[in-house]
Amino acid sequence: MVGIVVVSHSDKLAEGVVELAKQMTGGKEIPIRAAGGLDDGSLGTSFEKILNAINEVYSEDGVLILMDLGSAIMTTQMCVESLPEEMQAGIKLCNAPLVEGAVAAAAATAQGLSLDEVKKRAEEVPVIKVQGEEAPLPQKEKEASKGEVKSVEVQIINPTGLHARPSAIFVQLANKFKSKIIVQNITAGKPPADAKSVMEMAVNGTANKGEWIRISAQGEDAEEALKALKELVESGFGEVESESGRAESIDIQKEETITKGEFRGTPVYPGYVVAPAYVFFRRKKDSKKESKGSPEEELQKVKEAISLALKEIRGLKERISKEGDPKVAAIFDFHAMVLKDEKMLSQVESLIREKGASASEAISSVLEEWAEKLENQDTELMKERSADIRDIADRVLRILSGEGEFKFKIEGEDKVVLIAEELLPSETASLDRNLIAGIAVAQGGTTSHAAILARMWGIPSVVGLGSEVMKIPSGTRVALDGSEGKLIVNPPQDLIQVFERKREETEALEREFLAKAKEPAITLDEHGIEVVANVGNLETVSEILEFGAEGIGLLRTEFLFLNRSEMPSEEEQYVAYSRVAEIMGDKPVIIRTLDVGGDKPLSYIPMSREDNPFLGVRAIRLQKLYPDLLKSQIKAILRAGLKGNLKFMLPMVATLDEVRWAKEILEECKEELEKKGVDYSEKVEMGIMVEIPSAAIVSEHLAKEVAFFSIGTNDLTQYTLACDRGNKSLSYLFDSLNPAVLKLIKMVVEGAHACGKWVGVCGEMAGQKEAIPILVGMGVDELSMNARLIPPAKALIRRLRFSELKELAEEALNLGTAEEVRKLVGEKCEL
Ligand code: PEP
Ligand code: MG
Repeated sequence: MVGIVVVSHSDKLAEGVVELAKQMTGGKEIPIRAAGGLDDGSLGTSFEKILNAINEVYSEDGVLILMDLGSAIMTTQMCVESLPEEMQAGIKLCNAPLVEGAVAAAAATAQGLSLDEVKKRAEEVPVIKVQGEEAPLPQKEKEASKGEVKSVEVQIINPTGLHARPSAIFVQLANKFKSKIIVQNITAGKPPADAKSVMEMAVNGTANKGEWIRISAQGEDAEEALKALKELVESGFGEVESESGRAESIDIQKEETITKGEFRGTPVYPGYVVAPAYVFFRRKKDSKKESKGSPEEELQKVKEAISLALKEIRGLKERISKEGDPKVAAIFDFHAMVLKDEKMLSQVESLIREKGASASEAISSVLEEWAEKLENQDTELMKERSADIRDIADRVLRILSGEGEFKFKIEGEDKVVLIAEELLPSETASLDRNLIAGIAVAQGGTTSHAAILARMWGIPSVVGLGSEVMKIPSGTRVALDGSEGKLIVNPPQDLIQVFERKREETEALEREFLAKAKEPAITLDEHGIEVVANVGNLETVSEILEFGAEGIGLLRTEFLFLNRSEMPSEEEQYVAYSRVAEIMGDKPVIIRTLDVGGDKPLSYIPMSREDNPFLGVRAIRLQKLYPDLLKSQIKAILRAGLKGNLKFMLPMVATLDEVRWAKEILEECKEELEKKGVDYSEKVEMGIMVEIPSAAIVSEHLAKEVAFFSIGTNDLTQYTLACDRGNKSLSYLFDSLNPAVLKLIKMVVEGAHACGKWVGVCGEMAGQKEAIPILVGMGVDELSMNARLIPPAKALIRRLRFSELKELAEEALNLGTAEEVRKLVGEKCEL
């Protein structure tokens, strides 16, 4: 008998539906289970509950799963994907309404029908409607939907955002009006939610501090409703005290264009630009017009389109590599891998052969499914990679429809500010840098392709501006402030002058800083700080010297290990590390041993799915499971140490035992090399990254065992504040200037110095102007950052006095919030 699982956000609802469905089986026992709510009984969907329910009803006849709201579908899909493949094949998700579907499915199961039949019965079940031409709306609703739709956009300014209590207050107020009221989080691009429904607001209507929502109202009191709701948001729901934090809002004109106003987003690359807008709309492919041949013909079309797509991708990659953008170029390796993926190809083939799909339909269906799966992943980075899959689909579909390769058609000689909803990698790669003065993106986070590229090319950019920017007509003059994250439409003359002045000043300063970049960073009272670079691939090693890097403080070695089917040999690593050592000469190079696992899996090392990948088997924990991985890396480093000044450090150290274990491994590596008669350097020192609070707390013990510390403030902040560093919704929490993080850094510096060891900082914080005075003041000896940040960082250090910074750091450590620390630094230092 086919098993049935009812997934709902509510435990009671799921149980109730199961109870009702059981009444429809004519007394027959059927395998049906409820999986509702979270483990503690609150609203939500629980991975474990769904998994248990599936296992309980699973048989060879298969399982049908019915779900209520959007995120239930997501959790269910993830759950099914975690099961063995042979089980997955026998599980189907059902598109039916929950109650009616469960009842129909139960009846069909009791009749002994097959899984496909049960699913069909459930999905075809008629939904109960009240008789009449249309279901009568409640009187209030009917009145509400008369009249024009009015909207207003407003930014959420209160710390907790539009969740929980503020959301409940919002719903209460909305219910005081007759109009139909809809809320949409335009920053996060969520679906619209009914502002009068607590449930809808809880699922789709949430927004975080800093995000923009659009409130639309239709009905006789629409205007009053908008005014009151806007004021409520602007008041910060009683959580914001001062006037200074008032939200800005843009009244949406009834016409479809926006010709004035200001948008706020997330800054990606600083700089001031005033230029005409070039608003880019992606053209939709219309595959319906394409003719469909026999399955063999359609398969042949797929084959030819994929081989052409691979050729285009090779060309793009070569061009980008020549321009010196290896990171962007590497994205296209992933595109090529997807197009050669056998699973993808076999799914396309079966759609064509078994379902009679055309080449375009099959490609678009399979790749869209993949993109959605990625979108539902836990980490932002994976979510954003769904753009890659859509890009690949776009390319193949374009080829199938006979169109030529995509090119931006920017006319005229003037540089433009490119405005786009989002940018796909191919679109980004085909940009002509000489024509782009700035980039403004409606969606996307700071790890999106557009952001990666903008940073690499040094183009002033802002992301997350919200979809309304797409209403700015091309050619409209806009001012883009990449430092503050603002886009101003039709800026007034005086603002243009301010931008122009700031641009000139910034450029002059950049030139000045660069001219002195190779000189050391010494404070006014002669305290020296070593300023070195973070490097993530071989190609950029030489260019960091131009920016004045005095060494490499963090060489992330993941580039050697990811996106391949087998582990790099010791020899391959030796060649790579030797190359870096040779380029850097006697300048120090700190190689970080592999930091993968959890969210960054390796295809050649078995890793199981983890509920909390960031707290799971990654970095040194993975190396403990596979010591040969660490050994091959250490041996390659010891050997390459003869070519330059190499050191290495271990990531994610949490305990003293881990350090002692790594030291034993180091000794074993030396013995093995000696036994084989292979030369190596005795001078290679071992340090550790301090990026877990436990390591910071016991740093005094750890310092006795190692040569140096490098503080990974990205992870240290993540673990101290228990906040996923890639989660956009938690960006308000992720702040390395939080005094809790500062106190841990201070402990590490004291622990190291007490044992005569030095301390560096290699997280993003090391390059941030507000953080540098505090880090120097706390006694940090080395700062390692993105090479482009080195010239301004050195210039800043040269303007400061160490004796004052020590006092500043002491004062900062006694403050309560990151904001207070930032304010203090702003007041005391000329940043
Ligand atoms: C850090 O955590 O601060 C760090 C530098 O390492 P990564 O960003 O590679 O985790
Ligand atoms: Mg780290």
